[in-house]
Amino acid sequence: MSEDLKDGAPVPARPRGGFFAKVKRGLFMTHTEILEKLGTAVKEGLGFDESVLESLEEALLSADVGAETAATLTDAVRRRAGGSERKDLAALRGMLLEEIETLIASAPTPSGRPDVPLFVTFLVGVNGSGKTTTSAKLAAREKASGRSVLLAAADTFRAGAIEQLQTWADRLGLPLIRHREGADPSAVLFDALTAAKARGIGSLLVDTAGRLHTKKNLMDELAKMRRIAAREVPGAPHETLLVLDATTGVNGLEQARRFVEAAGATGVVLTKLDGSARGGIVLAIYRELKLPVVFVGVGEAVDDLVPFDPAEYAKALLGDDASH
Ligand code: GDP
Repeated sequence: MSEDLKDGAPVPARPRGGFFAKVKRGLFMTHTEILEKLGTAVKEGLGFDESVLESLEEALLSADVGAETAATLTDAVRRRAGGSERKDLAALRGMLLEEIETLIASAPTPSGRPDVPLFVTFLVGVNGSGKTTTSAKLAAREKASGRSVLLAAADTFRAGAIEQLQTWADRLGLPLIRHREGADPSAVLFDALTAAKARGIGSLLVDTAGRLHTKKNLMDELAKMRRIAAREVPGAPHETLLVLDATTGVNGLEQARRFVEAAGATGVVLTKLDGSARGGIVLAIYRELKLPVVFVGVGEAVDDLVPFDPAEYAKALLGDDASH
């Protein structure tokens, strides 16, 4: 827990370069591995041929970009390599970087924040992905940018989730709408929307359940919550962030797709990227979910949430230049 947040003091602005500083270790491990594999392969092959392309695919797989994304990127580089004069590591890195940038550009860029009196954000995702922690981190950011913030504890199912969010709210000096454990999440939401309107709140953050105790389908419940939000506040929820745990790897994306379809996710928060050598999952998210990564979580403290920068990410993934 950051000292700066004691007694709900404002969160200090993160110095520039925060993205690199926090994510570097994980990505450094990833890019060193990718480039080492490729560097060796290029030297052995004196240029690059099919064996180098195989090493590229392997390196991408070990960075956890997923089988399909690894194959797509390798095929693209193979096509380009055919027509290229240069066959050194820098050329290979350049081609790969451009293909990664193209892949990232294929998902929508995060839309600008609409100028509305009350901005409503839902956080969705499976249990343990980091929704509650991310709700608190986002609330701290919102507060630091001068907005009035209300939190809603609509994860009424996971034991301890309400108390966990209450602890964060107390630390941050922010109000929280809560019901008892096991209560109807939609009822919590309704109360939170009503309170937000009555109090002239600018930003409502809703922590939702990753599982439900009843047979009621979680996706139905989330759809119902979306309807209630839209009915009470036109255009709400304005943002639905799908919280994904980077350490679960590409296998988690199948489940994530359901949240995209049924819960209307508009962006991803990728948590637990700290110390993970699996930075490649970002590419699988762009390719398979067609959603922008908006923030990455890089630790458990409240200021361990950094805006995602695709261009910086692509460079960090492959090192600043081929000599790295
Ligand atoms: P929820 O079930 O989705 O609400 O998940 P929680 O917010 O309770 O998070 C689950 C665990 O992951 C907690 O121990 C968090 O402190 C931890 N966590 C969340 N985000 C991050 C992160 O970015 N990095 C690390 N290292 N841990 C995180």
